[in-house]
Amino acid sequence: MNPRPRKIKLLRWLPRRLMLTTGPAKDNGLYLSFDDGPHPGHTEAILDLLAANDARASFFVLGEQAERHPELMRRIAAEGHLLGNHSYDHPSFPRIPIAEQMSQIERTDQLIAAFDGRQRHLFRPPSGRFSIGLLLRFAFERRRMAYWSYDSLDYRRVPAERLVETMRRHPPAAGDIVLMHDDNEATTQALAMLLPEWRAAGFSLRILPV
Ligand SMILES: [Zn+2]
Repeated sequence: MNPRPRKIKLLRWLPRRLMLTTGPAKDNGLYLSFDDGPHPGHTEAILDLLAANDARASFFVLGEQAERHPELMRRIAAEGHLLGNHSYDHPSFPRIPIAEQMSQIERTDQLIAAFDGRQRHLFRPPSGRFSIGLLLRFAFERRRMAYWSYDSLDYRRVPAERLVETMRRHPPAAGDIVLMHDDNEATTQALAMLLPEWRAAGFSLRILPV
């Protein structure tokens, strides 16, 4: 398992105002991000762990999950984390027209706005898949996508020990945006072990710049 796939390095050639692949490395910033939530039973546990380790993170939520779980959305915002947009219901973006992609994004922006008062949010495409067409549309509308530079590979549904072992063997570096998911037990268990280690290593866990 390699947390740094080659395709991610290619995205670094895009302007940062359009595509964020890393955060500021200054003062050992590390940027955890959680996709596909909020999920009752998992998001709360992750919020508890973040609070216990004086850590902030970015949550790329699905519009449909935000509608179902407003109490979790309120808690994420109230505890100083960043809310990001991960589409309304996670379709495969390259398979639907651009107009439909934009309506997924705009509908979700409106839902999230009820919790953080912001009209627009960093957007992370479902499964990280997007077309040049959407990228051009983002450039035209001066919107920004947020990718990641470090993939925890937690969606492979492997045991927490395996996730921890991989991340210890290939430790994240200052500035990395770490991809995770707040929808499963293994991620929570892995974080319980890794967060104190990352704090001890001097990392400051922060929200992404918007
Ligand atoms: Zn996703």
